[in-house]
Amino acid sequence: MLMYRRLLAASATLALISGVAHAQDTKTAEGLRDKALLDRTAWEITEDLTTSIGPRIVGSPAMERAKGWGEAKLKALGFTNIKVEQFAKSSWTRGEESAWLVGPYPLKLNIVGLGRTLPTPAEGIEADVALFRTYAEMMAAPEGSLKGKIAVITQPMVRAQDGYGYGVAGVSRRAGPAEAAKRGAVALLIRSVSTSDSTVPHTGVTGFGPDVVTIPAAAMGVPEAEQLERLAKKGPLRIKLKLASTTDANDVAWNISGEIKGSEKPDEVIVIGGHLDSWDVGTGALDDATGVAITTAAAKLIGELPKHPKRSIRVVMFGSEESGGSSEAYVEAHKAELPKIVLAGESDTGADRIYSLKLPAGAQKHPIATTAGNLLAPLKIFVNRDPSAHGGSDIEGLEAAGVPSIELEQDASRYFDYHHTMDDTLNKVRPDELAQNVAAWASFIYLVADSDIDFRAMKPASAPAAH
Ligand code: ZN
Ligand code: ZN
Repeated sequence: MLMYRRLLAASATLALISGVAHAQDTKTAEGLRDKALLDRTAWEITEDLTTSIGPRIVGSPAMERAKGWGEAKLKALGFTNIKVEQFAKSSWTRGEESAWLVGPYPLKLNIVGLGRTLPTPAEGIEADVALFRTYAEMMAAPEGSLKGKIAVITQPMVRAQDGYGYGVAGVSRRAGPAEAAKRGAVALLIRSVSTSDSTVPHTGVTGFGPDVVTIPAAAMGVPEAEQLERLAKKGPLRIKLKLASTTDANDVAWNISGEIKGSEKPDEVIVIGGHLDSWDVGTGALDDATGVAITTAAAKLIGELPKHPKRSIRVVMFGSEESGGSSEAYVEAHKAELPKIVLAGESDTGADRIYSLKLPAGAQKHPIATTAGNLLAPLKIFVNRDPSAHGGSDIEGLEAAGVPSIELEQDASRYFDYHHTMDDTLNKVRPDELAQNVAAWASFIYLVADSDIDFRAMKPASAPAAH
């Protein structure tokens, strides 16, 4: 602890010497922070997108309307250099779905097909069940051992503030169908990747594409999964599953962006944003209307200042996060500009409060860490000692190309109760916590935008290999 205090004191002194953030900048950032807490823009954007457009899966008429909505919104809020960048993206459309336990007795199962799943034949698939309580248990089954069966995985997801359980439980959804196929299964049902105890199941993308050998797969409600787990101990189970869907290999999607132009170094850009697409269930409120709203509202507040910060701030509404594509498309379209993108960040964990800021590697002992810590403390946000590792899937491509990123980590305790379900709706958004998000983004991003901070130069040399 003492050591840490000394470090803090040392960085405070450094801040004074180097003058990284001028007093006036800090004051402006504090003003933005306090103004954002009372600003309704993010709420209005979230309400409008979820109500006027509704669910917006790639390739749907709603996504086409969302494109026009995004352009119009950026224009109305004072952004300039508005761009719609189209890219090729195959699409998938859900049809009728149902599942029944048929033996030992009939029981309707609440299910939702995993995103991009294969359909079953029109008459459905009826088969005996091979039930696994964890993904690892299924992986231990030898190839061919599930021949002709419906595999069921009932692994629960653990609730955690940082969303840790999602990666662990989510593998059943992402890789489960292809792995079950290898073992001979004809279909897969998983316990919903969810922290709730609800019968409302969660969709979400599963492995797909011309090179993926897979089977039809769906998620079921938590109570149903627990029921099957208990029943399986008493005797054999039989399930009937019907999934319908169509795909279009030649569809398109769009990354939409607008800028608050920098006053002194407009070609140096900070890229922030959320994703405009959503799953087809619910209205994509938490995932990710609020991410779009938070970053758009933050940049809009900065744009209303009497003088824009030195660097430009670009808000991107990414067009295909859920089944991938927008990150690669963004990097491809901005290759030449990459060295000028000084920082990137994405908001994609709902609307609950931010609790920590992760800075790019090397910045932890830089004066910016102290300045940011002081700026964000009234919002109950601390500067994490761990560096940013993954700022969001739409900026993965930028990160891989060497663009420094931040994470403004949101409390994900509630998020996985709702995301990717029919329950992802506006009434889950808490306006005061949404505003706290905007306050953090607006004030911190302003600080970087009105500075010469070069996060690339702070990157620590890779540590020598341990012997
Ligand atoms: Zn998302
Ligand atoms: Zn999502």
